[in-house]
Amino acid sequence: MIRTLALRTPTLPPATHTNCHVLGRQRLTVVDPASPYPDEQQRVFDWLVGLGRVERVVLTHQHEDHVGGVEDLRARLGGVPVCAHARTRELLEGIVRVDELLAEGDRLDTDAGAWEVWHTPGHAQGHLCLMLGEDVVCGDMVASEGTIVLEAPDGDLTDYLDSLARLEARGGRLHPAHGAAIEDGPAWLRHYITHRNRRTDQIRASLDRGPATVLEVVERVYGDSIPRQVYPLAGRQVRCHLAWLQEHEQVLVEGQHWRRT
Ligand SMILES: [Zn+2]
Repeated sequence: MIRTLALRTPTLPPATHTNCHVLGRQRLTVVDPASPYPDEQQRVFDWLVGLGRVERVVLTHQHEDHVGGVEDLRARLGGVPVCAHARTRELLEGIVRVDELLAEGDRLDTDAGAWEVWHTPGHAQGHLCLMLGEDVVCGDMVASEGTIVLEAPDGDLTDYLDSLARLEARGGRLHPAHGAAIEDGPAWLRHYITHRNRRTDQIRASLDRGPATVLEVVERVYGDSIPRQVYPLAGRQVRCHLAWLQEHEQVLVEGQHWRRT
């Protein structure tokens, strides 16, 4: 059993909201109470009180558009344990207190079944997904609105592709943090894998034209298809693909310049 409320958050456009998911019937596990905005914090609190008793909060990962409402919700509830991966706890030190650690294979009991915890690094090192039957709460592994960004060093393309493939093999309906539920999970995941592999191919091909800095690779691959202001963001994506190509000994870096091996 899963219920969802989209909360307005400072997220990456064109997405404007982050989903807060609730697991359980009356004894509730709340995933990513996301919003830092007071009106949205009031709205999610009122919604939860109407549904039942909150037993725990789970964080899929540390990004600010996922954790902005945690401390406010904890205060309004008079205390509730917040659970996340160990890496997420480290990264949230001084921002959000994480009380309990979750790891691959853990189970979260609710009054509507036990959810299984998967550790799915790639978008973030401590990223978690939760699964029960046909339902997969998939955080920022994929989205049905907006795009998923990988930023090194927390983002890692090898890990990300492995995690996507694992989720694809499992199957089910995806409940992302941004946008509506995705009925055909495997097809959506395959699309993401294909997209990333195509981008890697483009970046490799761009270096066939000669050595280049990261921003020059962005210029060659994206050109005028994206506004100049987002070149630095695209550059951080490109870095993740270059790191993958370097791991596979297809490129190397000398100073600021990347080139084909
Ligand atoms: Zn994220």
